[in-house]
Order: sequence, then structure tokens, then C-alpha cells
Amino acid sequence: MLSVIVPAYNEELSVERAYYTISDILNGAGIEFEIIFVDDGSTDSTYEKIVVLADRERNVCGLHFSRNFGKEAAISAGLAGAEGDCVVVIDCDLQHPPEKIVEMYRLWQEGYEIVEGIKSTRGKEHKIHGMAAKTFYSIISSVVGFDMSNASDFKLLDRKVVDILNRIPEKKGFFRALSFWVGYKKATVAFDVQERTEGASKWTGLGLVKYAISNISAYSTAPMQIVTVLGFIMLGITVIFGVWALIDKLSGRALEGITTVILILIFIGSIMMISLGIIGYYVACIYEEIKGRPKYIVSSSCKSKKGWSAAERTVTLANKVEIGYPMMQNDDPTCRK
Ligand code: UDP
Ligand code: MG
Repeated sequence: MLSVIVPAYNEELSVERAYYTISDILNGAGIEFEIIFVDDGSTDSTYEKIVVLADRERNVCGLHFSRNFGKEAAISAGLAGAEGDCVVVIDCDLQHPPEKIVEMYRLWQEGYEIVEGIKSTRGKEHKIHGMAAKTFYSIISSVVGFDMSNASDFKLLDRKVVDILNRIPEKKGFFRALSFWVGYKKATVAFDVQERTEGASKWTGLGLVKYAISNISAYSTAPMQIVTVLGFIMLGITVIFGVWALIDKLSGRALEGITTVILILIFIGSIMMISLGIIGYYVACIYEEIKGRPKYIVSSSCKSKKGWSAAERTVTLANKVEIGYPMMQNDDPTCRK
């Protein structure tokens, strides 16, 4: 069976269309499936729409978060709840073309364990947004060590990979990069990003900047090494100015350097502040991880009565994904250090 995970945040206009489009395509291709909608704490009627779908249709699961935890958390909850032999993650607004799921599924049947959806065109977006995305992906590609330009969250994962991802305890995982990081046999499927037909993108400029910083820091400590490099540069400058100051002193011109002193003070001060900020950011990340708060809180869940076997019907999805701790109690040796 294929599990389709659909993160949805304020998508009341798209939920039904997503369900019927995806299910028609999969039924047409003869693929057995479940569709898991993860409502990321929507404030509109997204979850009510999902409950209605679950009542009416086959093989629908719905999870509702207690508040908005972000798309990464929604994907994690979907992965924890998925029961399929392989899993596809797709956006609710269908900007990821669902017909490509069949292509991904066929590649999985041929033995590929991860099928990455690669954007061949990025769809309509602002020039500045496109440039910022390009810069972000070139940084993240160099820190992750894989070419991630045009990567997306639209991908198919084998059960093995899903089980590994479910055991990764870090809360700031970046799903798009994690699937590269885990390795496994990969294939790619190119797709054109479709236009959003309903609703609006949930991203703001500031939100994207925060997202970029958080993901780069989750994969690299290079910014902290910048602090060391800056320290050495400052030491070099100090030596030059030290010699200069001594010469001034010895030749009796010591008083003239006041502007230089002010400039140096400001310069050192700024560099110290920036450095402290960078270190502080990492300390804050460690603090966030160490507190051990869950990635998400599931406040309600629903499941179709139709389409499942009697045994499956008794398993409530929320039991598996209720609060979102990684499943470290699992005895599988792959999760031990
Ligand atoms: N989404 C989510 N939580 C959020 C923001 C977005 O689950 O906090 C979902 C959203 O409902 C959609 C997908 O993530 O299914 C992609 O979001 P969006 O279309 O806003 O992003 P874009 O396509 O503009 O990158
Ligand atoms: Mg979108």
C-alpha cells in the first residue's frame, strides 16, 4: 500500500480537490493507497473538511494539530502515522502534480528506495524570491554535500527510509535535505511546479529567511567557524595598528590617532556582537533540542470507516503520533549509537 501524506494549513478550499484528484489518479493506476491529511493547526475549516471526507470516502486519515507547528512537523506526523510500504509527501494545493505519483510508484516497484521530485521549473515567483532560493540552495547543497538545487518536499520514500526518519530525534530536521542525507538507492522525477489555484502561499519573506537560517544551521556549524576566522583577521589588524601606534609613540606623535582608535573600537565592537549573536543562535538551538519538547501535538484525529480491514479500523492513528516524540524506545539496532 502507498501512503500519501498531505500537510495542510488553512487549505479549506483545496482539501477536497486534493483528495479526489489524488484518489482518481491512484484508483486509475490500480494502486492501493491511504491519504493522510495533517492539518497543521488551521484556523479555518480545513479539519472539518477532512472529517467530512473521512466519513464519506475510503482510506482517509486526518490528524489535527493543537496549533500551527509548521510543515516540517506536519510531514513528521504523517511519516509517524503512515502504514504504507512506501510513502509520498505532496502539497495540498497540488502545486506538485499528482499524476507524477504513479511515475514515482513505478520507479519504487523497480527497486528505488527514494524517488525525489525535482523541480524543472519553479512556477511563477518573484525574481528576488527566485534569487534568494538559489543562494539558499547553493549554501545548503555545499553543507549537505549533495546537489539540492531544485529539490522539493515532493518525494516517495520506501518503508525502510520512513522507519529511519521516524527514529531521528532531532526536532529541527529539514525533510528535504534529510532524504539526501540518509543515502539509499535514488531516482528522480522531474516536474513543473503548478500554479496555486486556491488560497495563498503560507510563506512570508521573513518566514523564508528564518527558515533558511534554521535549515543551514541544522546542517552546518560553519557560521561558528566564521567567528574564529574573524578573530584571526582582527588579530592581524591589531598587529598592524599596534606597530603603527608604537611608531607614533616613539616619534612623539601619539595623540593624533584618536579617530583611528574610535574606528577600531566600533569595528571590534560590531564583530564581537555579531560573533556573540552567531554563538547565541547555536546555544538557543541546543537549548531547544535539550528541552525535549515534542515536535507537534495532535489534538484530534479521524479515520475512514470504509476501506480498511476490521483489525485496522481499531487502531487509532492518534495513538501512534499523539505527541510527536521520536520513537527511540524501539529496540531496533539501527537506532542505537
Ligand atoms: N503548510 C503547512 N504548514 C505551514 C505552512 C504550509 O502544513 O505552516 C502546507 C500547506 O498547506 C501546503 C504546503 O505546506 O500544503 C506548502 O505550502 P505553501 O503552498 O504555502 O508553500 P509554497 O508552495 O508557496 O512554497
Ligand atoms: Mg504551494
